Amino acid sequence: MKFKTELRALVALTLFVFCTAAAARAQVTVIRAGRLVDPEAGTAAANQTVVVEGRRIKAVGPNVPVPAGATVIDLSAYTVLPGLFDAHTHLCESTPPEDRDLFSNDMRVTGAFRAILGTVNAREMLESGFTTVRDVGNAGNYVDTDLRRAVEQGLIPGPTIVNAGRIIAPFGGQYHVNPERRALAHPEYFFADTRDEMRKAVRENAHFGALVIKIVVDDQPYVYSVEDIRFIVAEAKESGLKVAAHCLTERGARNAAEAGVASIEHGLRMSDETLAVAKRNGVVLVGTDFPEKTANYLGVGPEFAKQFHAIFLERLKRAYKAGVTMAYGTDAFFAVPGETRGTLALTYLDSYVEAGVPAPYVLKMMTTNAARLLGVERERGAVRPGLYADIIATPNDPLADITALRRVTFVMKDGKVFKTMK
Ligand SMILES: [Zn+2]
Repeated sequence: MKFKTELRALVALTLFVFCTAAAARAQVTVIRAGRLVDPEAGTAAANQTVVVEGRRIKAVGPNVPVPAGATVIDLSAYTVLPGLFDAHTHLCESTPPEDRDLFSNDMRVTGAFRAILGTVNAREMLESGFTTVRDVGNAGNYVDTDLRRAVEQGLIPGPTIVNAGRIIAPFGGQYHVNPERRALAHPEYFFADTRDEMRKAVRENAHFGALVIKIVVDDQPYVYSVEDIRFIVAEAKESGLKVAAHCLTERGARNAAEAGVASIEHGLRMSDETLAVAKRNGVVLVGTDFPEKTANYLGVGPEFAKQFHAIFLERLKRAYKAGVTMAYGTDAFFAVPGETRGTLALTYLDSYVEAGVPAPYVLKMMTTNAARLLGVERERGAVRPGLYADIIATPNDPLADITALRRVTFVMKDGKVFKTMK
């Protein structure tokens, strides 16, 4: 007994010495910021110093001393801000220009190919300044969980990933399956129509590493009811997970808003009444507001693109006016020649400029609002002591012109410089 206690003490002491030594060795980096943005307040402070120790921010202020031996990064000619969020990605999906159809594409790609796509897309998102994403399905058989783990283990560069695993949906999901080939929908969608199936679907997702539950509410003539969605929300909560609800119709969005999901994805058709319900229930709108140019990449013709964009734009203006909390999410699931997944995700800024949404609010959508939605606001989404050092910089002022984010010249992820150029 005594021996055991002594052994435990020895192990504890060894660990303490080891940890102290590791802390002493932790890389200290100092960033001199010309301007440092606080997205929550919508302000910027001049001539700030940010001290980064290891993976986290240690100190921030105008007169912070530079620790001995620190590496100094001079960004005094730049605006420095927290890394960006995209709350609606599909990193493991990339339909090619010659065939944008999801179903036929999903029949062709293997999990291994999806992992390669995810690896490339994750890196490209980080290059554009996105340091956290919520990846909402279409990743085959939990390839997104592997992608997340690969980033977490430092095997590949990429943003922090909050992944959804398999999308849960009423029979058919987003497909129109052949009755003789029903199995083809597996594993892309997890069909769940009864309460038992819903519970099983949520639990299996939680077990296989999903960090958020994604449901498709209304892509079939039958939709999830308010009671269905409440059931899923409650079951997800048991595993500590939030629910993101894909809604394209007014009926679907109303059900999701009434049921109190964490977020409505797309919300293409939302009446003022439904926007009011969403606001009342604290439901975040991740609008995926396609600009016309980006909608054109969907390959369904310029007329479709025009209309698709117009519907988004009109709803976006109403949602902003109504004061619904919004978070930035893109839904880029397609490959576009000449664009990386990161530059593609930034094309959506055009819609917010066009709708007249003020730049400071868009920045909030891309940082603090998204961080809160993802449940990581105590770890990411601001440049503050104690948070992970996800820091980017741009030569122009994103509080005045949000498109300044197209020129992110510096990216630090978890305290490590990933990109720097002058
Ligand atoms: Zn999507």
